[in-house]
Amino acid sequence: MFLDKFYPKKYVRSIYSINLKKFYKQGYRGILFDIDNTLVPHGAAANDKAVNFFKKLRKIGFKVCLISNNKEERVRPFADAVEAPYICDARKPSTKNYIEAMNIIGTDIEETIFVGDQVFTDVFGANRANMYTILVKQINPKEEIQIVLKRYLERIVLYFYVRRDRKELRKANKKYNKKRMLSLGIKKKLHIGKDASKKNIQDKGAESVECMEGVENINSVENKEIQNENNV
Ligand SMILES: [Mg+2]
Repeated sequence: MFLDKFYPKKYVRSIYSINLKKFYKQGYRGILFDIDNTLVPHGAAANDKAVNFFKKLRKIGFKVCLISNNKEERVRPFADAVEAPYICDARKPSTKNYIEAMNIIGTDIEETIFVGDQVFTDVFGANRANMYTILVKQINPKEEIQIVLKRYLERIVLYFYVRRDRKELRKANKKYNKKRMLSLGIKKKLHIGKDASKKNIQDKGAESVECMEGVENINSVENKEIQNENNV
């Protein structure tokens, strides 16, 4: 579908809900970050939380680089505070500076993640550069008028994205339930998994997409319930 190039691989509520260690274990070594409304509200200085977040990234072993369409006077002080290299005036969604950022930190496309808050600049550019893309919900909903207009279009893209992921989640749960029940020798349909996934599916926006990652959580709830049912 033509909208695929705007779809992130993952859509999360904030940078703090990204399972960093899991990505490191999977072989990712570099993360590129947009700044405004991804790490802090638009134009805001780096707060303690952001500074600690970058310390944590480095402690895990990630190489990081900031890549922003904003000007040097905005980007440099932020980069200094979090002690990260940066590219300003990056002209995202042009792929040139995504590649340049990877050169700076010395990682390949297959091991680099991009994190940003805008579909048509951040995600589109990173997808074109063939990187793993994570979209975060923008921190501050009050934005400049030109961004507000873009957000309306983003909502349309995200509507289709969320719908696709809900379908995949249902499919994944259905498959898991069937397999699990068969392995436990349960022939009767329990509806437990169905209810658990329904509850998650009812969550909207980022939350509902996050439950793709939460398939395991749903399943662990379901596991417990199936086990209890089995013990009766
Ligand atoms: Mg941004």
